[in-house]
Order: sequence, then C-alpha cells, then structure tokens
Amino acid sequence: MSRISWIGLGRMGLPMATHLVAAGHAVKGFDLSPDSMAQAESLGISPADSLADAVAEAEFVFTMLPQGADVIGVYSGADGILANAPAKAILVDSSTISIASCTELHQLTAAAGFNFVDAPVSGGTMGAEAGTLTFMVGGPEELFAKVSEPIALMSANIFHTGGPTMGQAAKICNNLILFINLASTAEGATLADRLGLDREVFWKIASVSSANSWPLRNWYPIPGVLPNAASSRGFTDPTFTARLAHKDVSLAVKAAQDLGVTLRMGEMVQAMYESLLDSGRGEKDCSVISELM
Ligand code: NAD
Repeated sequence: MSRISWIGLGRMGLPMATHLVAAGHAVKGFDLSPDSMAQAESLGISPADSLADAVAEAEFVFTMLPQGADVIGVYSGADGILANAPAKAILVDSSTISIASCTELHQLTAAAGFNFVDAPVSGGTMGAEAGTLTFMVGGPEELFAKVSEPIALMSANIFHTGGPTMGQAAKICNNLILFINLASTAEGATLADRLGLDREVFWKIASVSSANSWPLRNWYPIPGVLPNAASSRGFTDPTFTARLAHKDVSLAVKAAQDLGVTLRMGEMVQAMYESLLDSGRGEKDCSVISELM
C-alpha cells in the first residue's frame, strides 16, 4: 500500500485515481471544484483541505490538469507541490501539456531535488474508467520502473518513450493524428449522410473498410449511430471538449513550427477548432467539429 496524492479530479483524473483506491492504496485528492471533491470522497478518495495538505505525506504525486500553466502553478509557490511534498516523493504529470511547459517542469523539479516523469495518457474517459489507458513515460529508466507499479493499475499499455519530455512528444503526435482523423471522419460521415446513405449502414461499411479509425469507432460525429457517442446527445456532456482538442492540436503545431516542420492539415484542423471556440462551442464535445460541414 502506498500513499498517493492526486491533483485534478476531472473527467480523467477521477476514474484514474479510483483504480488506485480499488487496489488498496491510500489516495488523497485535491481539486478546485467542490463538486469533483464531493464525488471523489464518495468513491473512497480522502479529500484534502488544500494542495499542501494533499501532498504532505505522499510517496507518489500525480497531476491531471487542463494546461501546462495549471501544472506549473500547482508545482510552484509556498502552497505548491515542491514546497510541501516529502523530498523522496515521486512526481508524475499525466496532463497533456506543451514540450516547453514539460521542459520547465523537469527543470523545476530537478532544481528542487525531486524525481519527476512526464507520463501523459491516451484512451479517453472510456480508457480511464476501464483502467486500459496507454501511458507514455518520459524520464530515467530507474524511475520508469518505479512509476510503472501504480501506473499498471490504470493502464493496458505502458511505454518508456525516452528521456525527459519524450512522453509528451509521443502524446502530442498521437493526438495530432487523432484530431485530423476525427475531422476527416466528420467530413466523410457528413457527405455520406447528405448523399442519402443510411447512417448505420455507412458506419458499418467504414468500420470494416479502409476508413476505419479510433474516432470512427468511438466518437462517430453523426447522431443516432453510436448511442454512447456525444453526437447522439447534442455534443453535450463531453468526454473530450473542443477546447482541449484545440489545445492538443495547437501543441503539435507549435512543436512543429519550432522545428521548421509544416503541418498543413494540423493547421487546418487547428483553425477549425478556433472557429468552434469563437462561436462559443469550446465546452461541447470535440466531435462537434461535424457542425462545421
Ligand atoms: P477536466 O477539465 O475534466 O479536469 C481537470 C480538473 O482539474 C478539473 O476538475 C479542474 O477543477 C481541476 N483543476 C484545474 N486547475 C486546478 C488546480 N490548480 N488545482 C486543482 N485542480 C485543478 O479535464 P480532463 O478531460 O480530465 O483532462 C485533464 C488532462 O488530461 C488534460 O491535460 C487533457 O488534455 C488530458 N487528457 C484528456 C483526455 C480526455 O479524453 N478527456 C484524454 C487524454 C488526456
């Protein structure tokens, strides 16, 4: 049994932390949202009074927060992780953040004498709930072995992707492909619909043909085909918001620009999400991109 601190109990963090509780670990959680804290407590996570309280006795500290600035924020300052966690605590950030923010976190944690890995995940809220996420871990080999123990409880696949920031590098490339796939699925699905094809018949064809993809199987953006997909409930109650999709594609576009690599499709999909955010659809599910067609 380990003492594990979990910061960020949202759509991903809460189900992930719940697997640690189920395996018998003592999990102490902190989130700015009172609703998330109440839900966490009902699932066996002990609620911390503050961030400092959450990490004070931790052996592992996981963060699962929206953006790089949020993660750097909770690590820094008098109330932050670095000032309050025990020196031997192993720190793991599973948020999806920029290579620049991730580099800063590796520097901050090393300067404070902590062991830290970037360990973003793929698999969505379904993977978080089922405990079948894919983890991509960036950091030294010996730390990879140590973090693999709690991570195994939440995952089907764990990869040591290399040194510092290599977990994030793998993650943003994966999500660039995902959101280009989602946009292309939305175009094909919309055209199929307008041509008069039966929605379910076309989905069945595509899912066993060369158009098959993860978003096609899980996030089909035309209503009425997949009952559990956000499209079938008006893109509300999102599993992955349009705002987070815009963030992820933008992280890839920025990383590419820094290297002089041109991502024509990535930039196009980034602009599509920008227009969804501008029209007030940022908190809808990312598959709302089909409304642009
Ligand atoms: P979310 O918005 O549902 O959850 C984030 C939680 O962090 C919220 O409960 C919020 O209150 C809390 N929070 C924000 N700032 C905080 C702070 N300073 N201190 C404590 N709590 C704070 O987001 P999510 O969908 O769970 O995504 C979290 C991260 O995981 C993001 O980086 C996202 O890109 C990544 N991710 C999401 C998915 C997905 O399918 N949703 C899949 C893979 C990776």
